Amino acid sequence: MTDKPAPLFDTLVIIGPGLIGSSILRRAHADRRIARRLVACDISPAVRARVAELGIADAVEADPVAAVRDADCVIICVPVGAIAMVAAQVLPAMKKGAILSEVGSVKVTVMEAMAPLLSAYPDIAFVPAHPMAGTEFSGPDAGFATLFEDRWCLLTPPVGTPAPALACVTTLWEMMGARVRDMTVEHHDRVCAIVSHLPHLLAFTICGTADDLADETRSEVLDFAASGFRDFTRIAASDPTMWRDIFLNNREALLDMLDRFIADAQAMGQAIRTGNEDVIVSRIQRGRAIRRSLIENRQA
Ligand code: NAP
Repeated sequence: MTDKPAPLFDTLVIIGPGLIGSSILRRAHADRRIARRLVACDISPAVRARVAELGIADAVEADPVAAVRDADCVIICVPVGAIAMVAAQVLPAMKKGAILSEVGSVKVTVMEAMAPLLSAYPDIAFVPAHPMAGTEFSGPDAGFATLFEDRWCLLTPPVGTPAPALACVTTLWEMMGARVRDMTVEHHDRVCAIVSHLPHLLAFTICGTADDLADETRSEVLDFAASGFRDFTRIAASDPTMWRDIFLNNREALLDMLDRFIADAQAMGQAIRTGNEDVIVSRIQRGRAIRRSLIENRQA
């Protein structure tokens, strides 16, 4: 009889078991090769009670310091604006050689806030990650074990990250079903500004524009919402705190993408105004080609 291989981590701690955190827990709970012991920690008593009820963690803690004491890996899954604050609470309590990670949707400002904290704890490896997966829902009930299946997870390890820690976090995300790629924090924020943050900005804005229309028109928008508008409303249903933090923290890259978008939208408007069929058709064809390549890459 052969011994079972040791799990990737003995103790894995998730701080903020909402959509992303509870999806990690669900996957790790279903696949015990990931961690022997799963600990969840949240500031909200209602979230803690729900996570305990769902049975997706072996222990549920209110106190982050108590939660991380035996951890081999701690993943902070709270809104971007709270990540460094949580890190400041847990770093002094973590054991030497442990890994600290987070899943925030913005990386440059998080890294700037983390750098002075991390310099006091050279024995903790910091490996930020961003799973490019999500829904418009929040909280522990929104999570599911297959959320990361076939999705990309972008890692932004600081220069000098120990190779074994990076390998562990890479393996973790592969075991979550994701495909993993490393990049710099700056590149990450520019990529996410165009593929995620600008589309959310547009969705929130178009819903606001529709809502600002006269009463009778508004009721028609809602009554006759066709697929285009409906798809925007799904994105616009996302959590306000999370998106406030993302917009404010990725300000430069997002505003740059917004400027480019406005210029391109104005060019499209001009083509419509002047009846420039070639420009209109080529834009639509590019959009269709992008959709086809997403389907081929199984990202649709
Ligand atoms: P979520 O469902 O709202 O979960 C966040 C959880 O963190 C909530 O239970 C929240 O409690 C808790 N929390 C907030 N501040 C805390 C603190 N100081 N200490 C402990 N717990 C705290 O959010 P999510 O969608 O999973 O997003 C979490 C992170 O993942 C964010 O940084 C986001 O940018 C990133 N992300 C999100 C997506 C997505 O599509 N949703 C995708 C990739 C990455 P309360 O409810 O009481 O505030």
